[in-house]
Amino acid sequence: MSDRPVMLIPGRIHARVRSRLAEKFELLEAGDASASECDVEKLAQVRGAAVSGRFPASLIARLPKLEVIGSFGVGYDGVDVTAAAARGIVVTNTPDVLNDEVADTTIALLLNTVRLFHFAERHLRDGRWEREGAFPLSPLSLKGRRVGIHGLGRIGMEIAARLVPFKVEIAYHTRRPRTDVPFAHHDTLVGLAKAVDILISIVPSTPQTNGAINVEVLAALGPSGVLINVGRGSTVDQPALIAALQDGTIAGAGLDVFADEPHVPQALIDLPNVSLLPHVASASVPTRDAMADLVVDNLLSWFNEGRPLTPVPETPVSPD
Ligand code: NDP
Repeated sequence: MSDRPVMLIPGRIHARVRSRLAEKFELLEAGDASASECDVEKLAQVRGAAVSGRFPASLIARLPKLEVIGSFGVGYDGVDVTAAAARGIVVTNTPDVLNDEVADTTIALLLNTVRLFHFAERHLRDGRWEREGAFPLSPLSLKGRRVGIHGLGRIGMEIAARLVPFKVEIAYHTRRPRTDVPFAHHDTLVGLAKAVDILISIVPSTPQTNGAINVEVLAALGPSGVLINVGRGSTVDQPALIAALQDGTIAGAGLDVFADEPHVPQALIDLPNVSLLPHVASASVPTRDAMADLVVDNLLSWFNEGRPLTPVPETPVSPD
């Protein structure tokens, strides 16, 4: 047996994570987060893990020597950080390296949603421009709109920076007001929704954000309102959103994330006033490579230097 630390990979992971880890660690690859095919002796040797997706408490419980979990992505809601922290296990994520890509995608999704470019392109591709004439005017425009950002953290700040040159009014809701921005802060999400007509959500999935964009928030956004969600599907009451889009409570929505991915309800797909993306906000080769490198660099730093580079706040060690 090799004396290299054993690294568990439960389920699929970016190929660059796998190939870089294979240079330094003995890999134990499992089909999924249950690792049901792995025997107890092998699991007992695992000291680190790299994961893209779920890492439940039940798996942590089967890994008595686990020291560190490198999670692929800035959102780490798939990892049971409470169970990890209780055992003194470090969890790392991949913040910052994806901010620009996700903010760029958000602007693209916003423009697509208000100007219906995806339907216009289909009009051209289907030969309808030639046969039937011009694509209908989009009922909405970004011009003169007021935009509210739900979550003004690393990515929210990049979205705001990109919105400034669009000459829209910007406001935001977070639990704590920021002191470094000129935008109006709203203490409540419903208050923000009342004050704006486009709401962009970029908050983590937490018990507090779960279902936060509900009937009341959608009603406050109003009949010319647009919801853009690039954070997590759990933040939106999805049935309430579908009803609001169907009955004109709001005008449109652009969604990169959904309640039960990869399942997207047919009712959403059938709507003419939505733009839908399959969770691709960070999904370019350069950005995913940078995320993969940060997963591996965190694990190498832990095993070489005894400290992680980007631990999540719940983790029981400081980065210094
Ligand atoms: P940050 O931690 O930097 O920012 C999170 C922001 O959300 C902060 O402004 C925080 O402010 C706010 N927030 C947190 N909880 C609440 C709450 N209960 N009510 C109101 N505001 C809240 O995270 P990032 O910007 O790096 O990432 C945000 C999320 O975006 C990720 O966790 C991930 O889920 C999602 N994401 C989605 C991607 C995609 O592919 N679609 C790609 C990347 C990220 P405060 O603490 O003051 O409330």
